[in-house]
Amino acid sequence: MLILMKPSPTPEAVALVCRAVRELGLVPHPIPGVTRVAIGVTGNTGPVDETPIRGLPEVVDVIRVTKPYKLTSREMKPDDTVVVVGGVRIGEQRPVVVAGPCSVETREQTVETAKRVKAGGAQLLRGGAFKPRTSPYAFQGLGEKGLEILAEARDITGLPLVTEVIGVEVFEAVEAVTDILQIGARNMQNYPLLRRAGKSRKPVLLKRGQSATLEEFLLAAEYLLSEGNPNVILCERGIRTFSDHSRYTLDINIVPELKSLTHLPVLVDPSHASGKREMVVPLARAAFAAGADGVIVEVHPYPDKALSDGRQSLNLQLFADMMRGLERFVPNVEPEPALVA
Ligand code: PEP
Ligand code: MN
Repeated sequence: MLILMKPSPTPEAVALVCRAVRELGLVPHPIPGVTRVAIGVTGNTGPVDETPIRGLPEVVDVIRVTKPYKLTSREMKPDDTVVVVGGVRIGEQRPVVVAGPCSVETREQTVETAKRVKAGGAQLLRGGAFKPRTSPYAFQGLGEKGLEILAEARDITGLPLVTEVIGVEVFEAVEAVTDILQIGARNMQNYPLLRRAGKSRKPVLLKRGQSATLEEFLLAAEYLLSEGNPNVILCERGIRTFSDHSRYTLDINIVPELKSLTHLPVLVDPSHASGKREMVVPLARAAFAAGADGVIVEVHPYPDKALSDGRQSLNLQLFADMMRGLERFVPNVEPEPALVA
């Protein structure tokens, strides 16, 4: 349910509505907006008698939200959500590029990558300290040591960090260091983790589960918003299909669909989607063309020596080339030098 208030309502009128909602055993979520102020209501499992609310001062209308996801829907909040992290604005006009290694392996590898992706025009640094690996025998990440290295790379470059939190056990450690908490594809339906991240003051990058429908994806995001965290960024990272020529299939269709159904920013991860370095650049371009708010790509100084996901990692030169090719979409990138005949 959505309660529409008259433009610029008084704080008293909003407080009165919130109290009336709580008295019905429901939860009010005031949603300030450019075009209107509304109060989203969640917690109703059946029909609600809205008559007492309709009669309150400055209430213009009470609307039923038809989608199963509520706070994430554009029905509730028509204006785009812009997530601001260390001066970087995600979800507004010019798209962002997040880049860095799959895993933090050494200080040198991480710091060198961070410096180079920054020089190329990336606005955020990615890197895994705690890694969710398919095989228990694969490199599991440096853990807390990896977080320390990431923090140092941020200090040197000024790039805000995105790193994954793989479970509630390591939540505080990751939250203390990172600027954006990543919840990975394998954890998209880890509800205790989603609830914990929903209580955090740090923004969350939520990756789509490899077999999640759009509705499941948005309901996972709904956990975060319903716990009070409005700063959620969605990320399409490829889904399982019968196609066996790449690691996953980038569901580019979901980008415009998400942009129309939700106000949250949408990123695309062409690295995990394809599993192949040579596909990353064309897929990144496709993401921008489809209206994504940015891309997140894996970069390694020596991809052949990487401890995880080397096959899909761009080397430093390829990253610089990619950024020059994206200069139409992304700020801070020098235009490609004109070809001389
Ligand atoms: C990652 O980004 O490092 C990662 C593990 O991605 P995903 O959760 O999409 O597999
Ligand atoms: Mn990876």
